[in-house]
Amino acid sequence: MDKPLFDVAIIGAGVCGAAIARTLSAYRLDIVLLEKEADVAFGVSKANSGIIHGGFHHPAASLKAKLEIQGNLMFEKLHYELGFPFKRVGILVVAFSEEEMKTVTHLFTQGERNGAAGLELCGAERIRALEPKINHDAVGGLYAPGGGIIEPYRFVFSLVECAVNNGCVLKTGFDVAAVRKRGEHFILTARGGEAVSARFAVNAVGLHADAVSAMFDAERFTIIPRIGEEYLLDRGAEAFPRHVLFPVPAKNSKGILVIPTVEGTTMVGPTAVEAGDKEDVSTSAANLDAVFTHAKHLMPSVSRRDIITSFAGMRPALATGDFHLAVSEKSPRLVQVAGIQSPGLTASPAIGEYVKELLKSCGCSLTEKAHFNPALTKIETMRERTPEAMDRLIANDRRFGNIVCRCETVSEAQIVEAIRKGHTTLDGIKFYTRSGMGRCQGGFCTYKILKILARETGGKMTEFTKRGNESFIVTDTLSAAAPGGDGGTP
Ligand SMILES: Cc1cc2nc3c(=O)[nH]c(=O)nc-3n(C[C@H](O)[C@H](O)[C@H](O)COP(=O)(O)OP(=O)(O)OC[C@H]3O[C@@H](n4cnc5c(N)ncnc54)[C@H](O)[C@@H]3O)c2cc1C
Repeated sequence: MDKPLFDVAIIGAGVCGAAIARTLSAYRLDIVLLEKEADVAFGVSKANSGIIHGGFHHPAASLKAKLEIQGNLMFEKLHYELGFPFKRVGILVVAFSEEEMKTVTHLFTQGERNGAAGLELCGAERIRALEPKINHDAVGGLYAPGGGIIEPYRFVFSLVECAVNNGCVLKTGFDVAAVRKRGEHFILTARGGEAVSARFAVNAVGLHADAVSAMFDAERFTIIPRIGEEYLLDRGAEAFPRHVLFPVPAKNSKGILVIPTVEGTTMVGPTAVEAGDKEDVSTSAANLDAVFTHAKHLMPSVSRRDIITSFAGMRPALATGDFHLAVSEKSPRLVQVAGIQSPGLTASPAIGEYVKELLKSCGCSLTEKAHFNPALTKIETMRERTPEAMDRLIANDRRFGNIVCRCETVSEAQIVEAIRKGHTTLDGIKFYTRSGMGRCQGGFCTYKILKILARETGGKMTEFTKRGNESFIVTDTLSAAAPGGDGGTP
């Protein structure tokens, strides 16, 4: 049987694949986005610091610097169109000695050369005024008002939703395992046997870009995984800063940061250690100690008592240290998107544009669609609403009155919306709604969410997973013993 034929197959639905898909969905192209996991944003793009970087960390000659600045500037418009959480809170790099101030001055000059707007060199008084709870031993630093914070998974979800609304086909659970060339087409076959055919392909698979490049018989390179551990502190932790706080960077890392997340919690981290195993994202007690020692140096009120969870992400680095975005020389009509470590999240909208131009340069014809819709309908949430606004929502839809996740004030209506948009794993629902992200980490809401999932999809509790594959949550025995109630509106 003939394989469905697409103009472009994008492999990997992290932030890069998602941004590329949305950019291309404005053109008259048949696009397919292929993702091996059960949902999008389940790779590196879910486990990072969520910072929109300020454009001063990388030298002007690098692709990283260019795309970081371009990407940064695209976030207001994207936020307005897509509605994901984003705040331009600004970044402070904090120095504790005159020696460190020399590095700060270098970052300032580098940032100005890169085109970062509004950078300011600060003395001790100014930096304390900007961030009163900072360690008062600080002698000065750099203020970058253009830095910001986003919720990374919500960003990816909204990019993909927009691309799909504009005709892009999304195939999750499609683990590209083999590539054949037939005439002017690539045939991409998944581990399960399903195949699609496309004239152009984009390799945007993060940590596995080396393996997928080899499948195309294209360039040989090695992705070096560098693990980063992060710790999330409870909402209301005293350490919550006004800005993203950076130390003066080390040679291979931006250092341990104190980050105000866009949803009001505090994050500290990440570490930066080369890892042997791309899949091993476990955290360790030894690293916890190091992270908290460094974070407390920046912000003394950072406390281990406030930790609610930890996670680790793996940077997909290349030995060059820079991004590699290019049409393959060995396999024309394949575009390589490799080495996308930090600031990949920041640069992603610019990467979308850059890849569009690369595709054009290798023969992909681009005609704008007459009716591209760049916007999404706003998601209604309950947290941080006035009681009057809550009443109005409940009057329209009483499921807003059933709060399923009490820590993050997530209603049944939001859970149902996530499910109807195709997020049918516990993590997918969590990333879409924030249910299970608070202090109890899902202790109270998991069972209720599973009940709603069963009701909405007609599936059995025992079929649902945390993040796809074999990550089942409920066994038959437990399911039979579970208390009653459908988790729905009383
Ligand atoms: C700890 C940490 C902190 C960071 N902080 C920041 C930050 O604050 N700001 C910033 O700008 N950047 C940050 N980054 C970098 C940023 O997270 C990455 O650059 C970005 O997420 C990479 O996105 P991606 O789409 O290239 O990769 P991914 O998100 O990994 O997406 C690749 C996708 O491809 C899929 N895939 C893999 N193999 C296959 C296959 N064979 N078939 C189909 N699909 C496949 C994967 O499942 C995955 O979903 C951080 C990174 C880490 C690790």
